[in-house]
Amino acid sequence: APRKLAAGNWKMNGTLAALAELDALARDHGEAGVDVLICPPATLIHAMSSRAGQGIAVGGQDCHAKDSGAHTGDISAPQLRDAGASHVIVGHSERRTDHAETDGEVAAKAIAAHKAGLVSVICVGETEAERDGGQTLDVIARQLAGSVPDCATAANTVIAYEPVWAIGTGRTPTGDQIAEVHAAMRDALVRRFGDGADFALLYGGSVKPSNAAEIFAIPHVDGALVGGASLKASDFGPIVAAL
Ligand code: 13P
Repeated sequence: APRKLAAGNWKMNGTLAALAELDALARDHGEAGVDVLICPPATLIHAMSSRAGQGIAVGGQDCHAKDSGAHTGDISAPQLRDAGASHVIVGHSERRTDHAETDGEVAAKAIAAHKAGLVSVICVGETEAERDGGQTLDVIARQLAGSVPDCATAANTVIAYEPVWAIGTGRTPTGDQIAEVHAAMRDALVRRFGDGADFALLYGGSVKPSNAAEIFAIPHVDGALVGGASLKASDFGPIVAAL
Protein backbone atom coordinates (compact mmCIF):
# COMPACT_ATOMS: atom_id res chain seq x y z
CA ALA A 1 0.00 0.00 0.00
CA PRO A 2 1.19 3.57 -0.61
CA ARG A 3 2.74 5.46 2.29
CA LYS A 4 0.37 7.85 3.99
CA LEU A 5 1.09 11.55 3.56
CA ALA A 6 -0.29 14.63 5.30
CA ALA A 7 0.74 17.61 3.18
CA GLY A 8 0.21 21.28 3.96
CA ASN A 9 0.13 23.94 1.25
CA TRP A 10 0.64 27.34 2.83
CA LYS A 11 0.05 29.15 -0.48
CA MET A 12 1.01 32.87 -0.20
CA ASN A 13 0.83 32.89 3.59
CA GLY A 14 3.47 33.08 6.26
CA THR A 15 6.59 34.94 7.29
CA LEU A 16 9.51 33.92 9.50
CA ALA A 17 7.20 34.27 12.51
CA ALA A 18 5.29 31.23 11.23
CA LEU A 19 8.29 28.99 11.93
CA ALA A 20 6.81 28.73 15.43
CA GLU A 21 3.94 26.71 13.89
CA LEU A 22 6.46 24.29 12.37
CA ASP A 23 8.13 23.88 15.73
CA ALA A 24 4.80 23.19 17.43
CA LEU A 25 3.86 20.66 14.77
CA ALA A 26 7.22 18.90 15.05
CA ARG A 27 6.98 18.81 18.82
CA ASP A 28 3.52 17.24 18.85
CA HIS A 29 3.44 15.22 15.63
CA GLY A 30 7.02 14.66 14.50
CA GLU A 31 6.73 10.96 15.34
CA ALA A 32 3.31 10.50 13.76
CA GLY A 33 4.23 7.35 11.82
CA VAL A 34 3.03 8.99 8.61
CA ASP A 35 4.90 11.32 6.28
CA VAL A 36 4.30 15.00 7.01
CA LEU A 37 5.10 17.66 4.42
CA ILE A 38 4.83 21.43 4.55
CA CYS A 39 5.01 23.48 1.35
CA PRO A 40 5.59 27.04 2.56
CA PRO A 41 6.24 30.11 0.41
CA ALA A 42 9.66 29.83 -1.23
CA THR A 43 10.98 32.53 1.13
CA LEU A 44 10.67 30.07 4.03
CA ILE A 45 11.92 26.83 2.47
CA HIS A 46 15.52 27.11 3.57
CA ALA A 47 14.68 28.30 7.08
CA MET A 48 12.29 25.39 7.50
CA SER A 49 14.48 22.70 6.00
CA SER A 50 17.51 23.74 8.02
CA ARG A 51 15.75 23.39 11.38
CA ALA A 52 17.51 20.23 12.43
CA GLY A 53 15.63 17.19 13.60
CA GLN A 54 12.15 18.36 12.72
CA GLY A 55 11.13 15.12 10.98
CA ILE A 56 8.93 17.14 8.64
CA ALA A 57 9.59 17.30 4.91
CA VAL A 58 9.58 20.66 3.13
CA GLY A 59 8.41 21.33 -0.40
CA GLY A 60 7.93 24.06 -2.99
CA GLN A 61 4.57 25.12 -4.41
CA ASP A 62 5.67 25.30 -8.05
CA CYS A 63 8.83 25.06 -10.15
CA HIS A 64 9.93 26.13 -13.60
CA ALA A 65 10.44 23.45 -16.24
CA LYS A 66 14.00 24.69 -16.94
CA ASP A 67 16.95 24.43 -14.55
CA SER A 68 18.12 28.05 -14.89
CA GLY A 69 17.95 31.05 -17.17
CA ALA A 70 16.21 34.35 -17.91
CA HIS A 71 12.88 33.72 -16.18
CA THR A 72 12.35 36.58 -13.74
CA GLY A 73 10.46 35.57 -10.65
CA ASP A 74 10.54 31.85 -11.33
CA ILE A 75 12.28 29.18 -9.26
CA SER A 76 13.79 25.98 -10.65
CA ALA A 77 13.59 22.48 -9.27
CA PRO A 78 17.37 22.28 -8.59
CA GLN A 79 17.09 25.57 -6.66
CA LEU A 80 14.30 24.12 -4.52
CA ARG A 81 16.42 21.03 -3.90
CA ASP A 82 19.38 23.24 -2.99
CA ALA A 83 17.20 25.09 -0.45
CA GLY A 84 16.38 21.76 1.21
CA ALA A 85 13.06 20.87 -0.41
CA SER A 86 12.27 17.20 -1.06
CA HIS A 87 8.91 17.75 -2.80
CA VAL A 88 7.23 20.25 -5.08
CA ILE A 89 3.55 20.80 -5.87
CA VAL A 90 2.88 21.18 -9.60
CA GLY A 91 -0.35 21.93 -11.42
CA HIS A 92 -2.26 23.34 -8.47
CA SER A 93 -5.56 24.78 -9.72
CA GLU A 94 -4.47 28.25 -8.59
CA ARG A 95 -1.44 27.97 -10.90
CA ARG A 96 -3.58 26.55 -13.71
CA THR A 97 -6.02 29.49 -13.31
CA ASP A 98 -3.79 32.42 -12.32
CA HIS A 99 -0.92 31.50 -14.64
CA ALA A 100 -2.80 29.62 -17.38
CA GLU A 101 -0.71 26.48 -16.90
CA THR A 102 -1.59 23.65 -19.25
CA ASP A 103 -1.35 19.92 -18.66
CA GLY A 104 1.72 19.82 -20.90
CA GLU A 105 3.46 22.52 -18.86
CA VAL A 106 2.58 20.72 -15.64
CA ALA A 107 4.10 17.50 -17.00
CA ALA A 108 7.27 19.39 -17.99
CA LYS A 109 7.53 20.78 -14.45
CA ALA A 110 7.08 17.30 -12.99
CA ILE A 111 9.87 15.98 -15.22
CA ALA A 112 12.14 18.83 -14.04
CA ALA A 113 11.26 17.96 -10.45
CA HIS A 114 12.14 14.29 -10.92
CA LYS A 115 15.45 15.15 -12.61
CA ALA A 116 16.31 17.32 -9.61
CA GLY A 117 15.51 14.50 -7.21
CA LEU A 118 12.25 15.99 -5.97
CA VAL A 119 8.95 14.19 -5.47
CA SER A 120 6.24 15.90 -7.54
CA VAL A 121 2.81 16.39 -6.02
CA ILE A 122 0.69 16.65 -9.18
CA CYS A 123 -2.75 18.25 -8.70
CA VAL A 124 -5.89 17.58 -10.71
CA GLY A 125 -9.51 18.54 -10.15
CA GLU A 126 -12.74 19.57 -11.84
CA THR A 127 -14.53 22.91 -11.66
CA GLU A 128 -18.04 23.15 -10.35
CA ALA A 129 -19.39 23.64 -13.89
CA GLU A 130 -17.58 20.49 -15.02
CA ARG A 131 -19.05 18.50 -12.12
CA ASP A 132 -22.54 19.87 -12.77
CA GLY A 133 -22.09 18.93 -16.42
CA GLY A 134 -21.28 15.33 -15.53
CA GLN A 135 -17.72 15.65 -16.86
CA THR A 136 -15.76 15.01 -13.68
CA LEU A 137 -14.27 11.62 -14.55
CA ASP A 138 -13.43 12.76 -18.10
CA VAL A 139 -11.68 15.87 -16.81
CA ILE A 140 -9.67 13.90 -14.26
CA ALA A 141 -8.69 11.29 -16.84
CA ARG A 142 -7.57 13.99 -19.27
CA GLN A 143 -5.59 15.87 -16.61
CA LEU A 144 -3.90 12.68 -15.41
CA ALA A 145 -3.01 11.64 -18.96
CA GLY A 146 -1.59 15.09 -19.74
CA SER A 147 -0.03 16.18 -16.46
CA VAL A 148 1.59 12.95 -15.23
CA PRO A 149 4.77 12.31 -17.23
CA ASP A 150 5.93 8.87 -18.36
CA CYS A 151 8.85 9.05 -15.88
CA ALA A 152 6.41 9.11 -12.95
CA THR A 153 6.77 6.31 -10.40
CA ALA A 154 5.21 5.71 -7.01
CA ALA A 155 8.55 6.82 -5.53
CA ASN A 156 8.77 10.19 -7.29
CA THR A 157 5.12 11.17 -7.70
CA VAL A 158 2.08 11.80 -5.51
CA ILE A 159 -1.28 12.65 -7.06
CA ALA A 160 -3.67 15.09 -5.36
CA TYR A 161 -7.35 15.24 -6.28
CA GLU A 162 -8.53 18.76 -5.49
CA PRO A 163 -11.99 19.68 -6.79
CA VAL A 164 -11.66 23.39 -7.59
CA TRP A 165 -15.04 24.17 -6.01
CA ALA A 166 -13.98 22.60 -2.71
CA ILE A 167 -10.82 24.69 -2.30
CA GLY A 168 -11.16 27.31 0.40
CA THR A 169 -14.96 27.11 0.32
CA GLY A 170 -15.75 24.89 3.28
CA ARG A 171 -17.59 22.59 0.87
CA THR A 172 -16.42 19.02 0.30
CA PRO A 173 -17.62 16.29 -2.04
CA THR A 174 -19.57 13.43 -0.51
CA GLY A 175 -17.61 10.36 0.51
CA ASP A 176 -19.06 8.54 -2.51
CA GLN A 177 -17.92 11.31 -4.85
CA ILE A 178 -14.36 11.22 -3.49
CA ALA A 179 -14.37 7.41 -3.62
CA GLU A 180 -15.52 7.44 -7.25
CA VAL A 181 -12.74 9.78 -8.37
CA HIS A 182 -10.01 8.05 -6.36
CA ALA A 183 -11.00 4.62 -7.67
CA ALA A 184 -11.00 5.99 -11.23
CA MET A 185 -7.56 7.54 -10.69
CA ARG A 186 -6.20 4.26 -9.28
CA ASP A 187 -7.59 2.35 -12.29
CA ALA A 188 -6.17 4.83 -14.80
CA LEU A 189 -2.72 4.76 -13.17
CA VAL A 190 -2.63 0.95 -12.99
CA ARG A 191 -3.69 0.72 -16.63
CA ARG A 192 -0.92 3.08 -17.66
CA PHE A 193 1.92 2.22 -15.26
CA GLY A 194 1.11 -1.36 -14.25
CA ASP A 195 0.15 -3.08 -11.03
CA GLY A 196 3.23 -1.92 -9.14
CA ALA A 197 2.25 1.73 -9.60
CA ASP A 198 1.31 2.32 -6.01
CA PHE A 199 1.04 6.10 -6.22
CA ALA A 200 -0.15 7.82 -3.05
CA LEU A 201 -3.45 9.53 -3.85
CA LEU A 202 -4.30 12.59 -1.74
CA TYR A 203 -7.60 14.39 -1.38
CA GLY A 204 -7.55 18.19 -1.05
CA GLY A 205 -10.20 20.84 -0.59
CA SER A 206 -11.57 22.12 2.75
CA VAL A 207 -9.99 19.32 4.80
CA LYS A 208 -10.18 20.22 8.48
CA PRO A 209 -9.88 18.44 11.82
CA SER A 210 -13.62 17.72 11.92
CA ASN A 211 -13.81 15.93 8.54
CA ALA A 212 -10.32 14.42 8.22
CA ALA A 213 -11.00 11.01 9.76
CA GLU A 214 -14.06 10.48 7.57
CA ILE A 215 -12.12 11.42 4.42
CA PHE A 216 -9.14 9.21 5.36
CA ALA A 217 -11.48 6.21 5.71
CA ILE A 218 -12.43 6.41 2.01
CA PRO A 219 -10.82 3.69 -0.16
CA HIS A 220 -7.75 4.83 -2.13
CA VAL A 221 -7.38 8.02 -0.06
CA ASP A 222 -3.78 7.90 1.18
CA GLY A 223 -3.70 11.33 2.77
CA ALA A 224 -4.56 14.96 2.24
CA LEU A 225 -3.29 18.17 0.71
CA VAL A 226 -4.44 20.82 3.15
CA GLY A 227 -4.55 24.57 2.59
CA GLY A 228 -6.02 26.84 5.24
CA ALA A 229 -6.04 24.22 8.00
CA SER A 230 -2.30 23.58 7.56
CA LEU A 231 -1.30 27.08 8.70
CA LYS A 232 -1.81 26.44 12.41
CA ALA A 233 -0.30 23.46 14.20
CA SER A 234 -3.46 23.33 16.32
CA ASP A 235 -5.47 22.52 13.15
CA PHE A 236 -2.92 20.54 11.13
CA GLY A 237 -1.78 18.44 14.08
CA PRO A 238 -5.17 16.78 14.56
CA ILE A 239 -5.38 16.15 10.79
CA VAL A 240 -1.97 14.42 10.91
CA ALA A 241 -3.16 12.43 13.91
CA ALA A 242 -6.34 11.37 12.09
CA LEU A 243 -4.23 9.83 9.31
P1 13P B 1 -8.07 24.47 1.51
O1 13P B 1 -7.69 23.34 2.41
O2 13P B 1 -7.82 25.82 2.10
O3 13P B 1 -9.46 24.30 0.96
O4 13P B 1 -7.07 24.42 0.24
C1 13P B 1 -6.87 23.20 -0.40
C2 13P B 1 -5.73 23.36 -1.33
O5 13P B 1 -5.83 24.02 -2.35
C3 13P B 1 -4.46 22.70 -0.98
O6 13P B 1 -3.58 22.70 -2.05
